[in-house]
Order: sequence, then structure tokens, then C-alpha cells
Amino acid sequence: MLIHELIHVKQFIKKELIATDSKDIIWHGDRYYDHQTKPKTAPWEFEAHHDGKRLAKLIQSIPDMPLLANSKE
Ligand SMILES: [Zn+2]
Repeated sequence: MLIHELIHVKQFIKKELIATDSKDIIWHGDRYYDHQTKPKTAPWEFEAHHDGKRLAKLIQSIPDMPLLANSKE
């Protein structure tokens, strides 16, 4: 899902999520080693899933969003 990936981009830009040369991840200053970075347990994935669902719902709930209406013309 695109929103999911955008949240990871946000995490990188804000330096919440840093990938090191040795494939480790630094998340909010805490180092996670390669074997600890499974998608189902990693906290950055939790945030991406949780916030991604919320964001998708929010966007879908906006009626007649002008941007979407314009793109159909
Ligand atoms: Zn992810």
C-alpha cells in the first residue's frame, strides 16, 4: 500500500528510522540487529501499519475531495 510506504519515507526523513551499513536499523536511537528486524515485530512496521490504516480511513472519509474530482476531468 502506498500510504504504508509513505510512512516509512516520513520515518527516514525525520531520522526516526536509520539504516546502517551493516544492515542494522536505528529506531528512535535504539539499535535493532538484522535478525530483530522482522516485519511483524519491528516497531517501525507497527507504526506504518497502524497509522497507514488510520490515514487511509481518513482520506476515504473526505467527501468530494477537490483533488480527486479534478483528476477525473
Ligand atoms: Zn513496512
